[in-house]
Amino acid sequence: VNGVWQDEGVASISVFDRGFLFADAVYEVAAVVGGKLIDYEAHARRLSRSLKELAIAEPMPAAELLELHRQAVSRNGLEEGLVYLQATRGAADRDFVIDPNAAPGLVLFTQAKTVLANPKAQTGLKVKCMPDRRWGRRDIKTVQLLYSSLAKSQAVREGLDDAILVEDGMVTEASSANLHIVDEEGVIHTPPLSEALLPGITRGSVLSIARDHAIPARESPISVEALGRAREAFITSATSFVLPVVEVDGRAVGDGRPGPITRRMRELYIASSLRTAI
Ligand code: PMP
Repeated sequence: VNGVWQDEGVASISVFDRGFLFADAVYEVAAVVGGKLIDYEAHARRLSRSLKELAIAEPMPAAELLELHRQAVSRNGLEEGLVYLQATRGAADRDFVIDPNAAPGLVLFTQAKTVLANPKAQTGLKVKCMPDRRWGRRDIKTVQLLYSSLAKSQAVREGLDDAILVEDGMVTEASSANLHIVDEEGVIHTPPLSEALLPGITRGSVLSIARDHAIPARESPISVEALGRAREAFITSATSFVLPVVEVDGRAVGDGRPGPITRRMRELYIASSLRTAI
């Protein structure tokens, strides 16, 4: 917390922190497997972009930030899980007008979690479509996650795994992951980058892996109808990697089991990300 290692039971920040009062903060989550960081450089680049979009100063030089991640992993003996980082505008008297003198803050912690042997990779996820009622700059990874959290909780209350968010009849993304479908021709589609969705790091890696293996993949809008007709569907995120979606709004996707292209993309992503982990 702001340069000091603290026990999680006592770690604290100011009640005037603008991250707490205004969600004036951005975050990153990088997966850890075998004690190594997955896709770290891309996460660090996206953090810089999020900070720049909100004109929050970089908390420290890039090399130090990587070193901090490594220290967190080693101090906590983390083998598999994630590193969560939150960079906030900092504490200032509560005022809608941003105080340029607020000193930016940084919080970092680890969470142990099974990443590789996720049982959902075998069974797949059941999801429901819900309206996307988030703000208009979803390309910035802010901590303003209330609607996503409410939507996913609602889905889980109904015995499902996640919510797929829909705006003007088009799918944006899942509550905390990007969505991809495989059409009747075996082509992967994922919505193009815009202010409507997060530029997922795993999404980017999966697209480049598909290109490298001559697996057809396109960035093109996905309507709710196209999702309903899809042969396969999957989500991507740092801590879920690639997970199959096998049911949407009570109807099976394809034959209701994880499809071959989804399984292949998960295998390829795991192989590639472990090879490049640092
Ligand atoms: N979309 C949203 C809304 C998310 O919260 C996340 C994960 N934080 C993603 C997509 C996936 O991004 P990444 O692959 O970088 O984890």
